[in-house]
Amino acid sequence: MSSMIFTDCSSSTTPRLLRFRRNPLFHRNHGAVFLRPLISPSSPRCLSLYSSSASPSPSPSATASLATEASAAVIDGKGVAKQIRDEINAEVSKMKDAIGIVPGLAVILVGDRKDSATYVRNKKKACESVGINSFEVRLPEDSTEREVLNSVARFNDDPAVHGILVQLPLPSHMNEQNILNSVSIEKDVDGFHPLNIGRLAMRGRDPLFVPCTPKGCIELLHRYGIPIKGKRAVVIGRSNIVGMPAALLLQREDATISIVHSRTKNPEEITRQADIIISAVGQPNMVRGSWIKPGAVIIDVGINPVEDKKSPRGYRLVGDVCYEEASQIASAITPVPGGVGPMTIAMLLSNTLASSKRIHNFQ
Ligand code: NAP
Repeated sequence: MSSMIFTDCSSSTTPRLLRFRRNPLFHRNHGAVFLRPLISPSSPRCLSLYSSSASPSPSPSATASLATEASAAVIDGKGVAKQIRDEINAEVSKMKDAIGIVPGLAVILVGDRKDSATYVRNKKKACESVGINSFEVRLPEDSTEREVLNSVARFNDDPAVHGILVQLPLPSHMNEQNILNSVSIEKDVDGFHPLNIGRLAMRGRDPLFVPCTPKGCIELLHRYGIPIKGKRAVVIGRSNIVGMPAALLLQREDATISIVHSRTKNPEEITRQADIIISAVGQPNMVRGSWIKPGAVIIDVGINPVEDKKSPRGYRLVGDVCYEEASQIASAITPVPGGVGPMTIAMLLSNTLASSKRIHNFQ
């Protein structure tokens, strides 16, 4: 987890709030706003992703609650992730029954960072919950790069393993690039291999895997029926793991993209042009109400701890976007927590399932 920054989304510095403009995608029903139904499983896009056996009726997870009259609809990442995990669980059982193969995910954890250990534990639990086998190698902080490379090589050769994940960050004495490049492209479920990113960037090429967090962002837009084609999208942040692949994905979906980063001169003005904002910065409440075009859709990837004396932990998590201001202006927004976070793990499971199907030629 990044270092704690004690900032809040103070209304004293709140710019004039713009009036909420209803988005035709949403309709009101007994005081709640419901998003358009999930893309039904008959949709080819959804089928190709999950070969879904999910119910064609809108799931309760697709509903969005309305806190106040002028609030944006809440994009319920937790609910959507749960639905995706149920779909994966069904697919895993189907494959096991048909060909006796169970997908396997291997995680390599180096060192004893508490946050990394928690992420790995959560991934393991998530695998168990959908019937995916998990494998784990823990190496001490002072391991050599060669030892990590050897672990990767063993998993590359292991037919029970269909996905390999090297938990980042690695200790500073290791060359992260060397290690990520050594993961077999066929098992690169994190999607960080340069060949997968390169294919993502090229027209007419398809990556074997798409990085999980940006994939989760786009999946949320799809499942809520939010159109991307022809829209103006702004991605704030350009990291290799979130911002850059998110921008590439939006471009593949025919949005027109601007990328805002730490050297961008007029981020507020650029962001205000967006129909869709994906923010992956790591700065609490950086995106204020005045940055947002009325009716925009906001996907907030940021996870930032801010001081909260009322919380037993002494802090709470907020996004990059000032939620209380944004929800008065946007048409839909992901909460933090409960938005993109749960989707990241769901996409990791989805990538692992897809890998095992591809390797065993199972449709
Ligand atoms: P990162 O590698 O630190 O990248 C941050 C990006 O934000 C960089 O491109 C940086 O620009 C840009 N940036 C920093 N300050 C800025 C500013 N004031 N204005 C505009 N752009 C600015 O972070 P990351 O790994 O992408 O993660 C970003 C956030 O997402 C973090 O809060 C992280 O915890 C969260 N996250 C969440 C999930 C999830 O599952 N929900 C997954 C991954 C990350 P430069 O390139 O110019 O330095």
